[in-house]
Amino acid sequence: MAARVQRLSRSMLKTLRDDPADAETLNHKLLVRAGYVRRTAAGIWSWLPLGKQVLENVTRVVREEMDAIGGQEVLLPALLPREPYEVTGRYEEYGDLLFRLRDRKGGDYLLGPTHEEIFTQVVKDQCTSYKDLPVILYQIQTKYRDEARPRAGILRGREFTMKDSYSFDVSDEALAASYALHREAYQRIFRRLGLDFRIVSAVSGAMGGSASEEFLAPAPAGEDTFAQCPQCGYAANTEAVTVTVPPASPDGRPAVEKLDTPDTPTIEALAAHLGVPASATLKNLLVKVDGEIVAVGVPGDREVDLGKLAEQLAPAEVGVVTAEDFTGRDDLVRGYIGPQGGMAGKAFRYLADPRVAPGTSWITGANEEGKHARNVVCGRDFEVDQYLDVVVVEPGDPCPECGSGIELDRAIEIGHIFQLGRKYADAFELDVLGQDGKPARVTMGSYGVGVSRAVAALAEQTADEQGLCWPREVAPADVHIVAAGKAAQTEAALDAAERLAEAGIRVLVDDRAGVSPGVKFTDAELIGVPTILVAGRGVKDGLFELKDRRTGEREELPLEEALARLK
Ligand code: ATP
Ligand code: MG
Ligand code: MG
Ligand code: MG
Repeated sequence: MAARVQRLSRSMLKTLRDDPADAETLNHKLLVRAGYVRRTAAGIWSWLPLGKQVLENVTRVVREEMDAIGGQEVLLPALLPREPYEVTGRYEEYGDLLFRLRDRKGGDYLLGPTHEEIFTQVVKDQCTSYKDLPVILYQIQTKYRDEARPRAGILRGREFTMKDSYSFDVSDEALAASYALHREAYQRIFRRLGLDFRIVSAVSGAMGGSASEEFLAPAPAGEDTFAQCPQCGYAANTEAVTVTVPPASPDGRPAVEKLDTPDTPTIEALAAHLGVPASATLKNLLVKVDGEIVAVGVPGDREVDLGKLAEQLAPAEVGVVTAEDFTGRDDLVRGYIGPQGGMAGKAFRYLADPRVAPGTSWITGANEEGKHARNVVCGRDFEVDQYLDVVVVEPGDPCPECGSGIELDRAIEIGHIFQLGRKYADAFELDVLGQDGKPARVTMGSYGVGVSRAVAALAEQTADEQGLCWPREVAPADVHIVAAGKAAQTEAALDAAERLAEAGIRVLVDDRAGVSPGVKFTDAELIGVPTILVAGRGVKDGLFELKDRRTGEREELPLEEALARLK
């Protein structure tokens, strides 16, 4: 089937020579400069023609691989009623992250940040017997999260595209199988997209319970820090690493006095106060309240309002914290552990781990600042009397598996898979008729791919000084033809475009009149289609120049040969 020819002379495309003033990351700069996206508001982006094609290509790959594991695509609403999220407690738990709105009759709604509740309801309505399971449902849909610091362009949007899927099974073994299917599908997806990625454990396995892994794309612009061991291959989000740091005081704990400041301390100030190097990854503080340890966290490199945090902690809810008290008491900590991973909840899990002893430090992390504060219920006062246990993971800390020094790197979270278990099924009493004729509670998994984020991650990993540089699978075209010269070159370029397109090759042709070859070349590099074909002086002899965007290698050849290469 003939592929499409995009003529730049007829396209809406305005490239920019300069980086946008507010852009800090490579993907942000280049995607804006090359005319892929435009900012509409903070964390809210418009996809322009080139960008939409890349997004669509990523979507297609995700869809194909989800279909391949038997996923059934659905589309649930983004505008959601409050009640189901009230049932699970997430209407409150989400805190400021949730976009809440009200209809004309005063009814409460929200814009979906993720859809466990609604999928559970759908399956409760549709599936009644074990024979109806297993089921994997997925959607590729717009999600809404009022991120505290939408930055880095489409890497962290307040509106973004996610593929979210949910598995429904009757047994733990069947859930493990659905999880494994997703894990494999995700590897295929990210390989096909051309992303360099690592699979890391996202929650400490020590407490049993839910398995969770993240797919991380290493990139300096990433907001996650992960540890990897060059010796044994161990890899984990630093949130999940448990390392033993040498005791800083005789009793084994780095005792730190109260940080007495009404202001919002920066991580740097905090690090200085706590006497740890600012270069360290400062992930968490455990706070002692009225003689009891409660857990609060400090996200990696951002500011956190400790005062506000303290105000919002409720001792009655969180006060009891000894290992014994929490062992096996999921009911006590449930409020703090969501699929979004409440910081305090995670810390509690570590505390409940019988292996945790003084001198052991542990890492938890918040995904967004302040979320954990909301998770632990607002409105009560108490005094924070001591901050202690500064948890730091530094390069060279011992690998939990083999003891050799770990390395720390930055990465972008592009996917997350999670064995939820029965949390949502319990909340909605999702049962099916079991094989033994009795009701059986369903067990669930949830799995996300950041579809729009993957575009940014790809840009981060593949771009060079000249501009974007897409892998072919996601590029907006297979070849970018540059008409570099006068009418004869334009004619040759358009002819070549037709020929290639007939052979099924997707073509973008720069046939703009009155634009110099120099500008066209610069734009071609910036736009980042993997192969550039130049119709220049050689066309009078039937020759084109074929250039590899990545390597810069070029050669002159007849169109037939160029076509053969592009096939
Ligand atoms: P992060 O830690 O980056 O905030 P998350 O852990 O909150 O992400 P999940 O709830 O696991 O995100 O959502 C599944 C996937 O959706 C993530 O792995 C990520 O790729 C993507 N995603 C999450 N938040 C955003 C966002 N604000 N913008 C773009 N993509 C996002
Ligand atoms: Mg998040
Ligand atoms: Mg995360
Ligand atoms: Mg996640």
